[in-house]
Formats: sequence, structure tokens, C-alpha cells
Amino acid sequence: MKFLKELDPEVGTAVEKEANRQRRNLELIASENIVSEAVMMAMGTVLTNKYAEGYPGKRYYGGCEDVDIVESIAIERAKKLFGCDYANVQPHSGAQANMAVFLAMLEAGDTVLGMNLNHGGHLTHGSSVNFSGKYFNIVPYGVNDEGFIDYDELEKIAIEHKPKMIIAGASAYARVIDFKRFREVADKVGAYLMVDMAHIAGLVATGLHPSPIGIADVVTTTTHKTLRGPRGGLILANKEAAEKFNFNKAVFPGIQGGPLEHVIASKAVCFGEALKPEFKKYQEQVVRNAKALADALIAEGFNILTGGTDNHLMLLDLRGTGITGKELQNKCDEVYITLNKNTVPNDPQSPFTTSGVRIGTPAVTSRGLVEEDMKTVARLIKMTAYDFDTKADEIRTEVTRLVDKYPIYK
Ligand code: PLP
Repeated sequence: MKFLKELDPEVGTAVEKEANRQRRNLELIASENIVSEAVMMAMGTVLTNKYAEGYPGKRYYGGCEDVDIVESIAIERAKKLFGCDYANVQPHSGAQANMAVFLAMLEAGDTVLGMNLNHGGHLTHGSSVNFSGKYFNIVPYGVNDEGFIDYDELEKIAIEHKPKMIIAGASAYARVIDFKRFREVADKVGAYLMVDMAHIAGLVATGLHPSPIGIADVVTTTTHKTLRGPRGGLILANKEAAEKFNFNKAVFPGIQGGPLEHVIASKAVCFGEALKPEFKKYQEQVVRNAKALADALIAEGFNILTGGTDNHLMLLDLRGTGITGKELQNKCDEVYITLNKNTVPNDPQSPFTTSGVRIGTPAVTSRGLVEEDMKTVARLIKMTAYDFDTKADEIRTEVTRLVDKYPIYK
């Protein structure tokens, strides 16, 4: 960073400010993490100079022999990590991975069942402002009043609409997803099953959440959430599905040009880290911290949707508290706690205001926080919600004391 600041003070200073913000804040955004220096270092390499359209051994450019090695390592490690026989490591993001799957498996206008965005789904699962909602006939399914996926309702909707594809996976769902139940529904109506495990990929990789591999026809994920890699996407499948649908062709030339080989190198480093025993210990701590935080928030008097969590995140249901998701997010920002507003089922507030916030533990766990610290975090969130006007300074001091105990990027 010092190097960048010397060469380009304007950009370097902004990057340094962001590094300091990350050091200073309690990062509770469920989709974020703090990567290792090796993961970060791989991204800032000469690989960014290289055009490599195509795939290892079959490129449209010369001079690809070294990036072929890098990409092959990433592919082999991804396959080993998730126990499957096909991986495409080129999608620039989770959204690109999903777009490529749509292109490979569907025709424009086909019917797709995706989880309602307001119930925890992702934009690419059928939002009207996204390519998925614009070019496909999306039928949403959702959660019941307690916040659990309503599998009976899903089945009813599937029988009624006979989708070509069902998408399982979410951006804000705190419970185990029953992929087998999704498969049964898909089989009943002759639909493909796509699983987007972006949020829980780290848990799946370490056996802490049931794997969709071998159940779904195709699995997509991001690499930057619980998996703790660079920002990017990944497509996984078994050989038969990969051949039948030709996901490679859908990624390139279907929706992308040259792959980001520097990011692919970083994905390879991330998969290498995830294959080590320490990564399982880390994921176990993520889950323990999430449970401890949910329990502590309940003890502080908050409502947690579904009554708790099975994974790395939880949804605070603020209905009836007099504070909106947006207000709590903004107040938290002022005291160095970062989280995001989120709708709750049947939210009386607009999606811009919301009656909930989403809270996750992957980043604070990477920092080193443990269960005991979660009690402090819960207490600080409560103070922020109700005593912000009188105690903001006190909260900031306590947050600073806590993060200073677990420094990052020293
Ligand atoms: N899928 C799910 C379930 C997500 O939660 C996200 C991002 O939050 C994505 C896909 C998209 O990932 P990206 O932001 O890399 O496009």
C-alpha cells in the first residue's frame, strides 16, 4: 500500500483509508470476509497482463503455458475440495456463474422457480431488474411466517407451474437447506436442479452443511464469502452434466471474454487453504460464533428470525421495536459496526428501509473473535439500537478495544 501511495497518491490514499476502516470496524456483513495475505498477493501479480481466452491446453492466444498451470491447479483443487469431477474457475463473479448456467441449460422464456428476493433469495434467482427476471418466466417461492423454507408450498408451486429449472440457495437464510427435498420436487416435475451455495460454500467444503454435489445437476458459488477467497465465481458439476450442458462454452465464449488469470491464481490459493485442516477449524468457529451471537442477541431481548441459526448468519427481526433496519445499519456505521439492512418475510417496510438486519460471523472469526466476544458484540448492538444518542462514544471505545485485541494486516 505504501508502494501504491508513492506512485499514485490519490488512489493509494483511498486504498489505505479502506484498509484502516477494515482494521477499525467490526465486520458483520455475512457475505464478506478477510482474506489471507497469500490470497491477496496472488491477485496483484503479472498474471493480470495475460490474455488466455479458452481453457488450459485449448487457448486462442500464444504464451499460455504458465497460466495453463495456474488454472489447472485451481480446477484440480476445486474438484478435490468439493468432491466433483468438473469445475469451471473462470466466472468473474457469482452472478456470472449463474448467468452461464442459465445460458447453458435454458432457453429465453423458460419457467424457473427461484427464492423470492424479499425472502432471502439473490437477484440472479429471478429479480425483475436482473437478466434472470427479464428474460425468463420466474415463479418465486419463499419462507413461511417463521422464516423457514416452505417445502410443501414449493412443491405445490412446482406442480402448478412445471418449471424447467428450480434454484435452491439464498443470500439471507440461516437454516440448513434440504437439497434432497429440492431434488424430490424437481424430479416430480421433471425440472433441473441448480444449487447456488455462495453463502455456505465454506461450510459445505468442510462438511458442516450437507453438500449439494451429486444431488443438484449443477452447483454455483462465489469464492469470496465463507470460502475466504478473492471475489469471483465457480461452477461445479459431475462429468455427465458438464458434457451435456457444456458449461465451459457458456462461460467462454457465452458470457465472458478473457479469464482473470490473476484472480484464478488467487482462487487456487484459496482452495489450497480450504483443503487444510485449519480451514475446518475456522468454519467450525464461524458456526459456533454465529450460534453464540444469536443466543446473546436473544438474551438481550432481540427476535431472531427462525429462532436461531444453523450456519454463519442470522436475521434480526426488528418488527415491533420502533427501529428499522436502515436506522440500525446507519447507527451501527457511526460506531464502527458494519452490517446490512435486510427484509423479513411480509416486511411492512419497503426493501429500502426494511424491518431487519442480516448479521454474519465469517469476517470477525477470521480476525480471531470467539464465543465470549459475541456477548460483547450483542451488547454493543443493543446499545447502538437503543442508547445511540447518549452512548455513541462509549460504544466506539468498546469496539476499538475489541478489534485492537484481534488486529489484521499488521
Ligand atoms: N449468489 C448468492 C446466493 C449471493 O448471495 C451472491 C452475492 O451476494 C451472488 C450469487 C452473486 O455474487 P457476486 O456479487 O459475486 O456476483
